[in-house]
Amino acid sequence: MPEDCIFCQIVDGEIPSRSVYEDDQVMAFLDANPLAPGHTLVIPKEHHETLGDLPEDAGSRVFETLHRLAPEIEAAVDADASNVAFNNGEAAGQEVPHVHGHVIPRFEGDGGAPIHAIAGGRPELSDEELDEIADAIAGRT
Ligand code: 5GP
Ligand code: ZN
Repeated sequence: MPEDCIFCQIVDGEIPSRSVYEDDQVMAFLDANPLAPGHTLVIPKEHHETLGDLPEDAGSRVFETLHRLAPEIEAAVDADASNVAFNNGEAAGQEVPHVHGHVIPRFEGDGGAPIHAIAGGRPELSDEELDEIADAIAGRT
């Protein structure tokens, strides 16, 4: 584990957190600078920077936990919905280089935006380009 990783220090109890769930592989705790009441982070306990670095088993456990916790978090703060998302890499806005999924409770009329708002402008892509992109991805899956 990198000595200076904030989330590894939270896992080790060196930095306090408002933990809401913990098991052998995963931890969930309230975001220290919440975007909404109940804003929660779900992390693998082992240090990995991005989803691509995360072993499949740990990834499955993180997603299982997000799947189970998202509706419970919504219920706990009486939210209408939630955004569940990863800033996956620095260019995508990831500030803490230890994989974490955000659960951000959403409320009717909260003035927030959908996930479509996070990227820059929409690219102009021809049908040929879309076919090539789909093939390039499918070729790697
Ligand atoms: P990122 O931009 O990397 O996806 O989000 C990192 C998140 O971690 C931010 O929402 C930030 O508020 C949260 N965060 C940063 N430092 C701490 C901390 O020491 N404790 C907790 N609970 N959350 C933190
Ligand atoms: Zn870490």
